[in-house]
Amino acid sequence: MAKSYPEFKVYRSHGCGETHQTYADAAKCIWPQSSLTEGEGSYALVASCSGTEVSLYDSPESAKAAKQVLDADTCGDGCHRRHEIIQLDLKLPRP
Ligand SMILES: [Zn+2]
Ligand SMILES: [Zn+2]
Repeated sequence: MAKSYPEFKVYRSHGCGETHQTYADAAKCIWPQSSLTEGEGSYALVASCSGTEVSLYDSPESAKAAKQVLDADTCGDGCHRRHEIIQLDLKLPRP
């Protein structure tokens, strides 16, 4: 398992009881209101300024880099920097 990054929130279970095949699947279940879910990986950059957009990254470095870009710019109209990285600690059935 990847080492933990204490600055990230970690979602271990979200109470749906289902087994998701991919992190993208899980992200759609966790954030059903999300208008956009892209990428694949266990690090989710969630922008919830106006609606919810979720992008997934397979490394903490790329998630952090993406957040820096988003923080420096905006995620769209009405952006007030509600951007955070959530680490999805899920047991996926695939190897
Ligand atoms: Zn779920
Ligand atoms: Zn924003």
